[in-house]
Amino acid sequence: MSGEGVDLLVDCGADFRQQALHFGIGRLDAVLLTHAHSDHIAGIDEIRLYNWKQGAAIPFFGTAPTFDSLRRRFDYIFEPMQAGGGVPQLDMREIDREAFEVCGLRVTPLLVMHGKLPVTGFRLGDFAYITDASFIPPETLDQLAGVRYLILNALRYKPHPTHLSISEATEIALRIGAERTYFTHINHDLDHDDANSGLPPGVELAWDGMRFDIHPEAW
Ligand SMILES: [Zn+2]
Ligand SMILES: [Zn+2]
Repeated sequence: MSGEGVDLLVDCGADFRQQALHFGIGRLDAVLLTHAHSDHIAGIDEIRLYNWKQGAAIPFFGTAPTFDSLRRRFDYIFEPMQAGGGVPQLDMREIDREAFEVCGLRVTPLLVMHGKLPVTGFRLGDFAYITDASFIPPETLDQLAGVRYLILNALRYKPHPTHLSISEATEIALRIGAERTYFTHINHDLDHDDANSGLPPGVELAWDGMRFDIHPEAW
């Protein structure tokens, strides 16, 4: 997410390096972590480039369980470093279920379930980003009321124990009723055009490099 002078990244997956080079992501003001599975954090070493460029640690927002997992899996980042060693410098900012401020913007964390694992989605004004959900609790659906732009995970046609299928995600998208819902976290079973042709108006698959305007709220 970029614009109005604020550049936010949701998760830092294995292909972050390629995405950053390809789409010219020259700055990072903060990273919002949904959870600590590899496909969402494996690109974390690339944060070093932004440390060097910006001369500062990059703020990372995540829950205590997400940070616990990050500390275990990337222990070298959090251990004292010998001279010459280069590790990402993260400014860890723990969040819970309360709204928090990022660069003057109000961000509401959204609890969703990924099988048994709680995962954090994020709402900024009229936009919400939810990934790796298999279940969205009723309280979270309430928090999504009035959202105009929604990113939601939809893995494949067949049901999956820890990810929404296309039909499950479509049902949730229609219930939330955003003007535009974009499906993400898609696997290779889906042909882009075929899958889109079966989706209702206002719902479509997202794609790499997609751009649209959102309207976040000031803190
Ligand atoms: Zn996951
Ligand atoms: Zn994932």
